[in-house]
Amino acid sequence: MLTVAGHSQSVYAGPKLRFRPPHEVQKMPTTDFVFAPPAPASVAIAGSAQRFPVRRIFCVGRNYAAHAREMGKDPERDPPFFFTKPADAVVDSGANLPYPPLTRNLHHEIELVVAIGRDGSDIAADAAKDYVWGYGVGIDLTRRDLQEDAKATGRPWDWSKGFDQSAPCAPLVPAADAGDMTSGRIWLAVNGTVRQDADLAELIWPVAEIIAACSRAVALRRGDLIYTGTPAGVGELRPGDRVTGGIDRLGEIEICIGAAA
Ligand code: MN
Repeated sequence: MLTVAGHSQSVYAGPKLRFRPPHEVQKMPTTDFVFAPPAPASVAIAGSAQRFPVRRIFCVGRNYAAHAREMGKDPERDPPFFFTKPADAVVDSGANLPYPPLTRNLHHEIELVVAIGRDGSDIAADAAKDYVWGYGVGIDLTRRDLQEDAKATGRPWDWSKGFDQSAPCAPLVPAADAGDMTSGRIWLAVNGTVRQDADLAELIWPVAEIIAACSRAVALRRGDLIYTGTPAGVGELRPGDRVTGGIDRLGEIEICIGAAA
């Protein structure tokens, strides 16, 4: 006990403790990167100046029976399978995209995009909607000739799917405004001619089961996007094509394909 000015109090005798006041915490040194890290990839939000930061892009293969058949596969209800694109493959609606390199058969695939807003692993299908931030209209651009080569040779799909600007996405609509997205028209047109026209009710694996399956393979994080697969009617795009598409309650997407980069 130490007596100070007539008051007795216990005194801590260990190393001097120092708590940083909030204004000092904010000035703590940041990681010393060798160059400035790039801004995060992001996608627009409908009716908002804010943007949705994109962490990863997962995509589901062959999730509509008619599309599985057009790709020469039997659409039995096997577990969903996934492939990925880099986060910075995402590009806003309205973009003019150069025709990508290496391909002579660029294809369009219109897809419902799910934007994840909460971290989770081993998510139960009946809890999956709690992890959805919102939905969007996306196009999974595909270098089909490279994908066919990859399938034939047993090589990865990456170069056919994960190239630059391969994931156009319309402004996201919050789930509270969009609803559960278990049904609704999904369509795509090239130069005004409709090529893909289906209903989300035809998804072999609906959104809740896709989230459950993906979260068993990896820990989903907020910022992740999941492209949920395309209906039948995929086809070739050429330089100069104007591509439009939409999903009920989510609005529309538009991109133009330019000359080769
Ligand atoms: Mn696809």
